[in-house]
Amino acid sequence: MDFSAWNTPTTWVTFAAWFCVSYVYLAIGITGGYHRLLTHKSYKVPNWLRYFIVSGGYFALMGAPISWVAVHRLHHQKSDQPGDPHSPRDGFEHALYKWMFDMEKRQSVEEIRKQVPDLLEDKVLCMLGTDHSAKQAQLCLWVNIVARVIILLAFGPVAFTANLIASVLVFWSPQFVNTFCHLPSWGYRNYEVRDDSRNVPWVGLMAMGEGWHNNHHAFPKSARHGIRWFEFDATWMMISFFEKIGLATDVIRPTPTLSPEEIAAAKAAKAARAVKEAVVAPVSAATAESAELVNVPTEAVEAVKEKELVEI
Ligand SMILES: [Zn+2]
Ligand SMILES: [Zn+2]
Repeated sequence: MDFSAWNTPTTWVTFAAWFCVSYVYLAIGITGGYHRLLTHKSYKVPNWLRYFIVSGGYFALMGAPISWVAVHRLHHQKSDQPGDPHSPRDGFEHALYKWMFDMEKRQSVEEIRKQVPDLLEDKVLCMLGTDHSAKQAQLCLWVNIVARVIILLAFGPVAFTANLIASVLVFWSPQFVNTFCHLPSWGYRNYEVRDDSRNVPWVGLMAMGEGWHNNHHAFPKSARHGIRWFEFDATWMMISFFEKIGLATDVIRPTPTLSPEEIAAAKAAKAARAVKEAVVAPVSAATAESAELVNVPTEAVEAVKEKELVEI
């Protein structure tokens, strides 16, 4: 096959345009749709826009929205504890992709119903599946195959290839959030929450702001995940734009009692004090559970704990 005919400026512009539009639409579908809109109800939009955004996640092979949301709400309730669907504490490959194959056994239909009573009222979402069965995954796969065949026939192989590459990258981005953003060896933390969540910059960029995952676990309902000036959050930019033009309402923002900088300064001051006093106190069984919190001022810990208890 002669690919030299592909190497023209027009082809590359077509490729770049299809790649960018596909990537943004599919990724926002997951981050702005499945995650911040359906799971956490971080903002509201009119129904036509809600379905348009959520469709992006379906075309990124995320499966039935109800199934996805049930898993993610469970993740927040049990994060890095027994029962978390995809904690890296149960293995890297498990967190990356293996968890998907046994969700049907680990979260029953009854448990899903308890997790997502709000979404079960939405008949359109119910049509796409209300459980973790292979049937709903196959439906999603077939819809995606048909969509790609239409792109190939209607727009040609360049558009098809660009869309396919974008789809593969977007498909893996939430899996990278589940894995790398819960591995203690990656990234950094702004907030000392009870789980292993981390902010990982390259995942933050790849997953349209979802890689600032420690911020997200500190303020699960917030529509904004990037908090510090350099934490670029493309999904938040979109939500904030929708809010400015009146399309998004009830947008929830993080309301930290202490900023990450204040918490860091308090930790540094406390550590310096401890060195000066040279007092080494044994960590008791009672404090071992929250060992990560020992250097944080009580008021900061209480503030974060309070945020952790916010309804997902
Ligand atoms: Zn998480
Ligand atoms: Zn979440």
